[in-house]
Amino acid sequence: MRFDGKVSIITGSARGIGKAIGLRLAKEGASVVFADLNGQQAKQAATEAKQKGGKAIAVTVDVSEREQVKEMVKKTVAEFGKIDILFNNAGINHQQRFLEITEDNWNRIMKVNALSVLICTQEVAKQMIKQGHGGKIINTASLAGRQGYPDIAPYCASKFAVIALTQSSARALAPHNIIVNGFSPGVVDTPLWEQLDRECIEMGISKEPGEAMKNFAASALVGRVSTPDDIVGLATFLASSESDYIIGQVIGIDGGMILL
Ligand code: NAD
Repeated sequence: MRFDGKVSIITGSARGIGKAIGLRLAKEGASVVFADLNGQQAKQAATEAKQKGGKAIAVTVDVSEREQVKEMVKKTVAEFGKIDILFNNAGINHQQRFLEITEDNWNRIMKVNALSVLICTQEVAKQMIKQGHGGKIINTASLAGRQGYPDIAPYCASKFAVIALTQSSARALAPHNIIVNGFSPGVVDTPLWEQLDRECIEMGISKEPGEAMKNFAASALVGRVSTPDDIVGLATFLASSESDYIIGQVIGIDGGMILL
């Protein structure tokens, strides 16, 4: 199998895109660490992976806190002996009208979405360098990292930062054979969108659940929103040796919403 003998950490993998990636990696032979702030749900994801024959553990972690990230690295190495693949996937969003965006909102989103990518990349890369045989790091950016939208300005800034960090860390880590890339989804039907939909109704932008998500995805050439399963093919390709000559890229996977 493609990931036999590989060990992968996926942050934000208790649900949504991260969970789908984790389940696919486990199915294809990897030992998977489901790392999430929501330890209970991460445990359920790990149990699901194991019930399907995979190897998995759950780790409770706030990825924006360095000491907790160091602990995540330690637990992974204690359980599986090494780390080959890291997915920096945890992320949050909270909408506010552009003129009402607060410092608190900005700081929280930048810390979880952007600073965490720096911290997790540093702490995992140190371990990979010690191991001496390279690795793969894959960052979840967003279409909002290519375009600015008014009511999610902090989220856009954080995802532009993820793309910058992908390029910076790709250059820093390539000499150690650690290959960094990312992907930028458009609209993916996950619990994150349930929250955004609720906020849009509260803000008077839409009237019923699901409406805001569909409206946002209206320009997708594919004519529908995506599901986490639409994302895992590209995500796992970037974690595999088949993509070894792709470095420092963030690949769009948005059904044709943005054409670069
Ligand atoms: P989700 O809300 O379903 O899952 C996110 C997970 O991250 C949750 O399990 C949550 O507990 C975890 N998390 C949040 N803060 C954390 C922290 N500080 N430490 C550890 N874990 C934390 O969201 P999703 O849609 O699966 O999003 C996954 C990634 O994809 C995010 O980075 C998001 O920004 C990005 N993304 C999503 C969409 C979309 O339309 N859903 C589009 C583009 C990019």
